Amino acid sequence: MSAVLPVENPPGIERAYRMRVYPTRVQGRQLAQLVGATRFVWNWALARRSSAYRADGTKLNWIALSREFTQLRAAPDTAWLGDLPREPFNQILRDQERAFAAFFAKRAKYPRFRRRGVPHGIRFTMDQRREQLDRGEEGKRWARVNLPGLGTLKLRRTEELAGRLRSVTLRREGQAWYASITADGVQAQACAPTCAPAARAVLGVDVGLKDLVVRSDGQRVPAPAALRSSLARLRRYQRHYVRQRDAAARRQGLDPAAPFPKGTRIQVSNRMRRTQQRVAALHARIGAVRREALHRATTDIVRCAQVICLEDLAVKAMARGMGRRSFRRSVANAAPGELRRQITYKAQWAGRQISVVDRWYPSSKTCSACGAVNKALTLNQRRWTCAVCGTEHDRDDNAATNIEREGLRLIASPTPMSGGIDARGDLSAVAEAQVIALPQHRRSLKRELVARRCAPHRPKRRSGTGGKGGA
Ligand SMILES: [Zn+2]
Repeated sequence: MSAVLPVENPPGIERAYRMRVYPTRVQGRQLAQLVGATRFVWNWALARRSSAYRADGTKLNWIALSREFTQLRAAPDTAWLGDLPREPFNQILRDQERAFAAFFAKRAKYPRFRRRGVPHGIRFTMDQRREQLDRGEEGKRWARVNLPGLGTLKLRRTEELAGRLRSVTLRREGQAWYASITADGVQAQACAPTCAPAARAVLGVDVGLKDLVVRSDGQRVPAPAALRSSLARLRRYQRHYVRQRDAAARRQGLDPAAPFPKGTRIQVSNRMRRTQQRVAALHARIGAVRREALHRATTDIVRCAQVICLEDLAVKAMARGMGRRSFRRSVANAAPGELRRQITYKAQWAGRQISVVDRWYPSSKTCSACGAVNKALTLNQRRWTCAVCGTEHDRDDNAATNIEREGLRLIASPTPMSGGIDARGDLSAVAEAQVIALPQHRRSLKRELVARRCAPHRPKRRSGTGGKGGA
């Protein structure tokens, strides 16, 4: 879908802060307990819903379940639930309500039971009537949040906490705990990477496979080297774990090559647990490295240009299909969805404009010099020569240039080719009429439009939904 997102500078925006949590030993134990207990309650509620529906078609909602949960907390067998703070359980029941709403609306599959060891967050909402959070001051190392049942948790303060704080989600990554704090009513200036005018009017961004991003100004951001070595180490640890697990299965008299009978629990030895912890810690590290690289790349992109052109990728389809594992992994490394998300919100903070190019636009196959489409181009062809004009192309550079051009064309004429700019169309008139979305850049955009004689591409699909332009 092609769309030009309008520039928006709302008085307050919503955002999340992520900070490392340093729980005390006691708090660490309580948090681990809460993770297990919320998983237990999710599964209990899911079983209650399913059995009530099977019995007489009753659809239990979260209010009914919340009432039952109060009884469950008082029951002798499950009295341990009563020792834990109530709030995360309310949140988990609501999460399940949402999951069911999505299921009934056919947006999602039937909610599933949660397995042990699959990490999920524990959420607390902030009570607006009392001051639960000590935001810390400029230059201070810590912020503190007071949560029911847990007491005061220390947060490593990495930036100013602005706006009205709504909720705190605590999540374990490896051995470390992180808090994700949502806030609304945050002033854009408080979080914009920069509000200075951009150096460039337009920039095309292609999500590379070998590189994280390839930009139309010739810059490339390679995937961080730390990622590759960590991934190699991860494979080693995982193999190690599988060997340990197979040995444990053999000790229990099972054949590790055959699927285990349902309900089998493999005894986890201390050594296995240590390997598990290593794997989790490495996953956390890989995530941190990747996130860091993405944030640097996206902040840089948003600083650099006033209009940012991106490709609308069918991210999921790309990660799922397309065969080879190394290819899937490189797609996951590039994290196109996350890249797009970061660019979008940072652009909004900084008052930049985003132009999303239709996913059917052949950005890789089109020659950026003459506009001919090379239909024979395959996925692993990194370089190619245009059969029409003879220009040699680097696959990714060429795609980035095309994305920039097509994105710019969409801004100039949001409806797909409705008498807009054609290869030989009257550019100046269109530019005059349409490029009003960006007063501060009108002139430079127009210059670029004219200089480039614009887009040779004519989209195949002329669907009515294809070109919702909001400019
Ligand atoms: Zn050509």
